Amino acid sequence: MSRKFALAGAVALALTVTPLAAGTASAATQQEAAVTTVYYSTASAPSFRSVINAGAANWNRSVTNVRLVERNSGASLRYTEGNDPRGSYASTNGHGSGTIFIDYTQARQYNPTRIAAHETGHALGLPDHYSGPCSELMSGGGPGPSCTNAVPNAAERSRVNSLWANGLVANQQRAVETIYGF
Ligand SMILES: [Zn+2]
Repeated sequence: MSRKFALAGAVALALTVTPLAAGTASAATQQEAAVTTVYYSTASAPSFRSVINAGAANWNRSVTNVRLVERNSGASLRYTEGNDPRGSYASTNGHGSGTIFIDYTQARQYNPTRIAAHETGHALGLPDHYSGPCSELMSGGGPGPSCTNAVPNAAERSRVNSLWANGLVANQQRAVETIYGF
């Protein structure tokens, strides 16, 4: 992790934990250990670069234990685009590694930022929950094309923070699986 992001994480922690811990050396150290940076590449999804970045920004504003940073070289998470009758999908270990595919047809029918943020949610460890409301990001296409929400709800934020509480440690223990559909 770069110094810059470690520092940003430390600042975020200082704002969210008890005032007692704010600004102390121990708070900064703990947060440095907790924040994991996931580098992602949009090089193979040029049409969707802006919506991918918007989705990543939504996640970055929502969670504290993982940061998504665009960097095409050496990225563990790669976005791609094209046509696939199965729609968009995420092939990922749920811990920041893998490939996300965004389908052209689906992105014309549904809000593309919601698609990108939803698929990114899989890369962060969340499963689908199509029966959920529009306010839930992982309900995906369940609420229909009129749903444009691209921000995770409180439960989703909490779940991702928990999944990333141990940084990269869990990365070794997860198998890659492909989650089709949106
Ligand atoms: Zn999904």
